[in-house]
Amino acid sequence: MDHGLFQGTHPELLFFLVHNLNINPTRGNIFLMFNSCSICGGSWNNNLTCQKMFDEFLALEFSNPAYGRVHMLTVACFMIQHHRYSDRALEWMKIKLDEVVNKGVSPADIRLQMNQDVDQSNRGWKIERQSRERDLPHIHWSITIANVFQHKDDPVSYCDWVVKWAKATLLEMRIED
Ligand SMILES: [Zn+2]
Repeated sequence: MDHGLFQGTHPELLFFLVHNLNINPTRGNIFLMFNSCSICGGSWNNNLTCQKMFDEFLALEFSNPAYGRVHMLTVACFMIQHHRYSDRALEWMKIKLDEVVNKGVSPADIRLQMNQDVDQSNRGWKIERQSRERDLPHIHWSITIANVFQHKDDPVSYCDWVVKWAKATLLEMRIED
């Protein structure tokens, strides 16, 4: 195979380029369009980034209660898998996720608690991860937002998948290195 521009490229790097980026070395075409998320590893088919998929989920959840019932889980999973929570928020959310997926607490109850526990004026910590906080470990999530996205057209299957996403996220999340 004539690798053209990629002549001499290390075979493992070439494999990575061909399989992770839209690069066809035999034709010399280079489209530097990543097709998976560098943070959660989710696949970006049709050039939909995780943020765009998340925005679509929020639109569905805010406009239709059949989708909205899992809203708290959707936000928690997206934020955890994209390193958006501070360490304090991660610890808090881990406990809350466990209550919902393992102990039968309804996500709506968690939202009420969240309004009290995490009220800006009652806490001395931030929900959003701050730039001075350490880097979080990279995790190979078994379920990402891209898996859930395939089920977004039906609210029942969507909610089932958000719950599966939450269970996997809870099992696989690591706060400590
Ligand atoms: Zn992602």
